[in-house]
Amino acid sequence: MELSRAGDEHGLFYALDLGGTNFRVLRVQLGGREKRVVKQQYEEVSIPPHLMVGTSMELFDFIAAALAKFVDTEGEDFHLPEGRQRELGFTFSFPVNQTSISSGTLIKWTKGFSVNGMVGEDVVSELSKAMERQGLDMKVTALVNDTVGTLAGGRYMDNDVVAAVILGTGTNAAYVEHANAIPKWTGLLPKSGNMVINTEWGSFKSEKLPLSEYDKAMDFESLNPGEQIYEKLISGMYLGEIVRRILLKLAHDASLFGDVVPSKLEQPFVLRTPDMSAMHHDSSHDLKILGAKLKDIVGVADTSLEVRYITRHICDLVAERGARLAAAGIYSILKKVGRDKLPINGSKMPRTVIALDGGLYEHYKKFSSCVEATLTDLLGEEASSSVVAKLANDGSGIGAALLAASHSQYA
Ligand code: ADP
Ligand code: MG
Repeated sequence: MELSRAGDEHGLFYALDLGGTNFRVLRVQLGGREKRVVKQQYEEVSIPPHLMVGTSMELFDFIAAALAKFVDTEGEDFHLPEGRQRELGFTFSFPVNQTSISSGTLIKWTKGFSVNGMVGEDVVSELSKAMERQGLDMKVTALVNDTVGTLAGGRYMDNDVVAAVILGTGTNAAYVEHANAIPKWTGLLPKSGNMVINTEWGSFKSEKLPLSEYDKAMDFESLNPGEQIYEKLISGMYLGEIVRRILLKLAHDASLFGDVVPSKLEQPFVLRTPDMSAMHHDSSHDLKILGAKLKDIVGVADTSLEVRYITRHICDLVAERGARLAAAGIYSILKKVGRDKLPINGSKMPRTVIALDGGLYEHYKKFSSCVEATLTDLLGEEASSSVVAKLANDGSGIGAALLAASHSQYA
């Protein structure tokens, strides 16, 4: 996809971001190059779990209904010129075979989704049909995923953004590449000379990725065995589950929670990454918060201080491994675009910004600081002083609205 260099888009645009546990609907009033984002509003809706594994009609009807409700609350500050149709950028963060700026077919589901009859179907046409069923008159003018949206939104705000990385329920990255470095590109070269590469790095697997018995068992029992291996080591959907599996093994083999293995601990995904994060960040002298979490989640009321320390240490190991692997991925992109070291001609290294988004990166502080520290280690002091990791909060929503605007039927 070519990244628009325009930046002077005007008007009201909508975005819908479907990527994991929640989806977001957003509207922005764009004011052109000077004013940029004049006003924005968004709403977040959680997806009922049964819809993640139901039929595509049920899922899209639910989404379109929430979108229609959101459109109904559009206030005076947003202006849709007379006679125009509302336009939407659709952020759909699953692997897609993009067939045009506003169409693409689903390759496979990831992150706990397994909706019937969607693989191979055009996701924009599914959404459009659902909007029609809701009586919502709106046109999808751009289909993007969260990395591409974050990259576009990030660049709109800061021209030095070279890559976007998502660390949320899942993980993925996109970056800006010189079009002539893309062997499979056979079309005309874009005017800017640049193209966006969506890496889908979550699907990376390699013998060099060290998988433990816990990783292997989790993968084997997942909805998508053998797939998204890098994602399963790094992202928010899985970190807590890895910790649970280690605790369960210690409960069995070393009676970590006493003579009886707590039955709650047997339940897959009962320990969520936000809970793991809360336990990991407990700095009280008696690890009170961690103890309360263990009581809630595992159902063991009185854990010894030693057990709490062990638990925190496991959280630390699993988070650190994920964060360091994520940093290695970011480093590899910097290396690919030549921003991993000072230029050989002796000139200064250009400022290089990585836009990061996703609940894991945003909320799990020990995780995000470890990503940043590892990146600094890998780059070395000199190069790392030019590289900035920037939280692009909801960058993908704004980016999608922006791409909807630059591909508007009225533009
Ligand atoms: P997505 O768009 O992929 O659904 P988000 O960017 O909304 O993801 O991030 C949600 C994910 O972030 C959750 O699945 C969870 O794993 C992780 N997360 C959210 N809050 C926290 C937290 N406080 N600590 C650690 N991880 C968190
Ligand atoms: Mg997201």
